Amino acid sequence: MLEVMDLTKKYGKTLAADHIGFTVPDGRIGILLGPNGAGKSTVIKSIAGLLRYKGMIRIQGQDARSLEAKRSFAYVPELPYMYDALTVREHIEFITRAYGTAVTEEEAERLLGRFELTDKQEKLGNELSKGMMQKVSICCALVIRPRVILLDEPMVGLDPAAIKELKTVILELKADGCTVLISTHMLEMVKELWDVTFVMDKGHIVGTYPREAVADEDLEALYFSVTGQADRKEGI
Ligand code: ATP
Repeated sequence: MLEVMDLTKKYGKTLAADHIGFTVPDGRIGILLGPNGAGKSTVIKSIAGLLRYKGMIRIQGQDARSLEAKRSFAYVPELPYMYDALTVREHIEFITRAYGTAVTEEEAERLLGRFELTDKQEKLGNELSKGMMQKVSICCALVIRPRVILLDEPMVGLDPAAIKELKTVILELKADGCTVLISTHMLEMVKELWDVTFVMDKGHIVGTYPREAVADEDLEALYFSVTGQADRKEGI
């Protein structure tokens, strides 16, 4: 369960998140949807503990800044970060040791295989393409067996096979009771995934739409109406 309460973040004079509040329960997929600059990454980075902010964020009922919370969530950043001196396989090993998760060789093999990284295992972080880095970053997030996972624009830069696999993985996490938060500016990418969509614009949540209440095709129209982008329909 992820709870964000009264989250406010300023960069100098720019108010990037203005009293943001939302909850994503266990086993649900929440989407932060909004145009470029809406504040989505700011919210995700605040939850991940990478920014100072005002307000309260709880992960599995614990203050997000606590060690207990940090142990239970994973974060896939918009721009993947690799360690130059570690191979793909060593990235997985490093993360599992740091989190103390019991992942067997076979499980790690299977995970890398799902993202077509089997033959890249011995490559160093700085020898990978951006898409490969993104896939390693996703694998590193999965091996810690998170109870809450944050994915910032996770499909950008992935090939169609990896996008399909990632969607399958996200639905498996949901079925396992994990809380998922995905940020995106492309509704098309999360069509079959979302349980609740929070539309962000200019640092505010301007609409909250549970799937039970809103059909996919209506969500698109609502998005354009609440963000005032009704005349610029390309790019969602
Ligand atoms: P995108 O879809 O383009 O990734 P976003 O919705 O994730 O956008 P943010 O990256 O959270 O938006 O940015 C929200 C606002 O905060 C924007 O006005 C942006 O210019 C500003 N901003 C983001 N990071 C910084 C920073 N490090 N310093 C100053 N301003 C920033």
